[in-house]
Amino acid sequence: MSPVTHFLLGWVTANAAKLNRRERAMVTIAGVIPDADGFGLVAEIATRDSAHPLMWWSEYHHVLGHNIGFCLLVTAAGYAFATRRWLTASLVFLSFHLHLLGDLVGARGPDGEQWPIPYLSPFSAAWQWTWSGQWALNGWPNLVITAAMVATTLWLAWRRG
Ligand SMILES: [Zn+2]
Repeated sequence: MSPVTHFLLGWVTANAAKLNRRERAMVTIAGVIPDADGFGLVAEIATRDSAHPLMWWSEYHHVLGHNIGFCLLVTAAGYAFATRRWLTASLVFLSFHLHLLGDLVGARGPDGEQWPIPYLSPFSAAWQWTWSGQWALNGWPNLVITAAMVATTLWLAWRRG
């Protein structure tokens, strides 16, 4: 899914419980942070026509950030910096997994690339998650989910004034 959808999903997750500002921010960020491994795209495009193109996007996107090892690091950070530690850490863990699930079901690339998720990395390469029914990154289900999250966000904002 796109970073915008991930962000909204993370934000809604963060508002599922009574958290303070910092705790909410950490849960929201946990929903987006796996895509930090996508910043290689900048380097890849910048060096595309050079003699030594860097393939950081092709090689590392969905590899470095989309796995249980990185999830545990992020969850530990959530625990360390929260006041309600277990609640925040649980929601950070959930938010991170919603990201993985979102990518699993709806992140097929325009060229048909499925971006398998190496879930057990870096401990094991045994699981490489893909789903045959995966829809495209710009497919309609993502638009529906995004719209639903925007509506939920507005509703939360209205309810809390
Ligand atoms: Zn992702």
